[in-house]
Amino acid sequence: MQSVLSRLVDAVGPAYLLTDPADMAGYVVDARRRYLGSALCVARPGTTEEVAAIVRLCAESGTALVPQGGNTGMCGGATPVGARPAVVVSLERMVTIRDMDTVNSTITVDAGCRLVSIQQAAEQAGKLFPMSLGSEGNCQIGGNIATNAGGTAVLRYGNMRDLVLGIEAVLPDGRIWNGLRRLRKDNTGYDLKHLFIGSEGTLGIITGAVLRLCSRPTTSITVLASLNDIDHVLALLDALRDVFGERITTFEAMSHNEYELVLCTHAQLRDPMQVHGSWYVFMEITGMGTEDPHAAVEQFLSHHMEYGHILDATLAQTLAQSENIWRIRHSVTEANLRAGAAVSHDTSVPVSQVPDFVRQSEYGIQRAFPEADVYFVGHVGDGNIHVIAILPHAQCTAPERFAALAQQINDIVDQVTLTLAGSISAEHGIGRSNRMRLRRYKDPIELAFMDAIKAVFDPKNIMNPGTLL
Ligand SMILES: Cc1cc2nc3c(=O)[nH]c(=O)nc-3n(C[C@H](O)[C@H](O)[C@H](O)COP(=O)(O)OP(=O)(O)OC[C@H]3O[C@@H](n4cnc5c(N)ncnc54)[C@H](O)[C@@H]3O)c2cc1C
Repeated sequence: MQSVLSRLVDAVGPAYLLTDPADMAGYVVDARRRYLGSALCVARPGTTEEVAAIVRLCAESGTALVPQGGNTGMCGGATPVGARPAVVVSLERMVTIRDMDTVNSTITVDAGCRLVSIQQAAEQAGKLFPMSLGSEGNCQIGGNIATNAGGTAVLRYGNMRDLVLGIEAVLPDGRIWNGLRRLRKDNTGYDLKHLFIGSEGTLGIITGAVLRLCSRPTTSITVLASLNDIDHVLALLDALRDVFGERITTFEAMSHNEYELVLCTHAQLRDPMQVHGSWYVFMEITGMGTEDPHAAVEQFLSHHMEYGHILDATLAQTLAQSENIWRIRHSVTEANLRAGAAVSHDTSVPVSQVPDFVRQSEYGIQRAFPEADVYFVGHVGDGNIHVIAILPHAQCTAPERFAALAQQINDIVDQVTLTLAGSISAEHGIGRSNRMRLRRYKDPIELAFMDAIKAVFDPKNIMNPGTLL
């Protein structure tokens, strides 16, 4: 191992190879602190060629590699856990915006660019990069691509898969694949980039990408509404689509207990609602050019309040009011962490099945665990709803006990998901946490092809072993 280490030092330079456990501490634990691993070293390459040199050395010695972006993933996929010594490859030094082409509406970037930096670069060029996540200040575009991230604007702009035109990646044998094409149309057979999107670091290390940019809306309206029940939430979505169509960027929902929990745990947030309900909807509606949908939105809201579909609605009048509303939505993860031991799910079902999913999963969990609080929040416009069961901390002090309880709750939620033809992972991926659930619920034919693809790319199984497959 020593020889691999010393050759890695040569490849990236001593300043960029961490071996001291204290220096590596932040790279071997996941965002939710569920996995604590250890690494042979953490390599922080500055160029694609350096990444390739690292991978070649690891391929020769059969050493495992764990690609790491911003380390904000929810499933432990970027944490080196397991008996095999692994090299963590952090892309954090690869932060160059390589090209901005406003006529082609594309930006070409290093994979280590943080999502927020790409949003800012697009804004400076008068464009929009629409991917938006609660973690955007820390996550990297390489991680977003490797997890096929979703977020709050999927309804209008799609998920990461819809925003990537080209990819550059280092393959598990150290070759560099330059697929940085800036084309909207390219029908020349199998599309390799789509295999890398959502591959969670198991097929290679993404080092660069060409991303699609969009036109910037000129008006953006934030609305928070309270409603009586989840059926009204879906009815509102349907009605909103009929009137505003593509202008709806975001349609998120939250159960009342989650809303209360966020406000209780975040004293700096203000409750903008006069009348509370069982559910809250967070919406963003945009206008382009000279179009200003304010009057139409106000008319829509008063019509639906008059008919009792909406209990109350507030339309942000200032940037501060809008930010307060979105902070309520984005403070959920933190609030849940403070409330107890959280078992959360990242389910998607057909949009029309969301109410059934909510009712059936809540009933199933509360019947088996009357002491659990069941919360809901999610990107309901995409059929992606996170159900979160929070158990009292005292019940879960031993990690094995928590794991056993989590498994029982997963089984309940997964059975409902299966019945409603949904997916156990809408946007967070599989990582280490959900491998067994994937084996259980994914179609056997698809699983067999996934295993076969992995074997073709990575016959030595050095790329992120123990994640996804
Ligand atoms: C507060 C909060 C809110 C969030 N909200 C959302 C949300 O709304 N929607 C959503 O989809 N996710 C969300 N996430 C999860 C997370 O931010 C995303 O999954 C994100 O895309 C991960 O990016 P990352 O750079 O942090 O990747 P990491 O966590 O570092 O890695 C994730 C996976 O990608 C692989 N990987 C990372 N970089 C590369 C690379 N360059 N090449 C190959 N493989 C790589 C890793 O090996 C790992 O398997 C949220 C997380 C937090 C903490």
